[in-house]
Amino acid sequence: MELRIQHLSKRYSNGVQALNDISLTIPAGMFGLLGPNGAGKSTLMRTLATLQDADTGTATLDNINILEQKDQIRRLLGYLPQDFGLYPKVSAYDLLDHFALLKGLVNRQQRKEAVDALLHQTNLYSVKNKHLGGFSGGMRQRFGIAQALLGDPRLIIVDEPTAGLDPEERVRFHNLLADIGAEKIVILSTHIVEDVADLCNNMAVINKGNLILSGQPLALIEQIQGKIWQRFIEKAELPTYQQEYQLISSRLTSGRTLIHVYADEKPDHSFKLAQGNLEDVYFSAMAGLLSGTTALPVQRIA
Ligand code: ADP
Repeated sequence: MELRIQHLSKRYSNGVQALNDISLTIPAGMFGLLGPNGAGKSTLMRTLATLQDADTGTATLDNINILEQKDQIRRLLGYLPQDFGLYPKVSAYDLLDHFALLKGLVNRQQRKEAVDALLHQTNLYSVKNKHLGGFSGGMRQRFGIAQALLGDPRLIIVDEPTAGLDPEERVRFHNLLADIGAEKIVILSTHIVEDVADLCNNMAVINKGNLILSGQPLALIEQIQGKIWQRFIEKAELPTYQQEYQLISSRLTSGRTLIHVYADEKPDHSFKLAQGNLEDVYFSAMAGLLSGTTALPVQRIA
């Protein structure tokens, strides 16, 4: 199974170019679409979910034209939108049952089995009769995944699912996504690098509607080894370092400012080589220091 996006562009009527000639091939497995707020992630997700049209370009899932054969895609699609609204006074069971009916599960017994199985899978079975209004953010997102998985979809799109979740809920949500299965395409759109680092075997970075990087996280991390340098500085020195070096990130660590700099060679003796991680890849890409697609064949990394 393969999702192929070619030359997809979208400009909104207010003039914002939300997608600019995006071409991307997404194999089965977990795919991370990473980018800051406003990058165009939701626009791309909504387009793939058949909820809005692109101006130009194509998108196909195997031999199905996503942009034209919308009914066919919808039968294969599970979608958790960014702003997933719930009816607060309805129980988890009743709403999932209702969604299942809308998905075409008309047989009462089969529907009950499907709903029960999903409530177990998302760890919500014990609260199935509670009103959704009383659910925590994490429970709501797990419910969102339960409804997205109804009807055994082949293509699952989750848009910014972990924003606002506390660390424990995020881990639980990650585990749930990781269990969905390698034979489906799961696209996870997020601005949180750790989501991709934890879960995805393929990824892309978009910014201002442009695809700036794609590949396998491990290969991309490999690509920056030996090029990320770190040191502590005084906070007041930050502007100087920003001017003199390719500074890709700065953060407070134990009350001190730790900077990461991108350079082919050690900038000076005060810097130490850092173990580059996916965050360094992301910030390097955002700074325009890293681009393109890793040449490794696309394969699942165990
Ligand atoms: P992301 O999901 O990465 O935050 P979006 O796809 O939501 O990005 O938005 C990309 C850009 O398009 C942003 O500048 C946003 O303000 C703009 N945008 C999104 N939706 C609309 C819309 N319906 N009309 C006009 N501009 C929009």
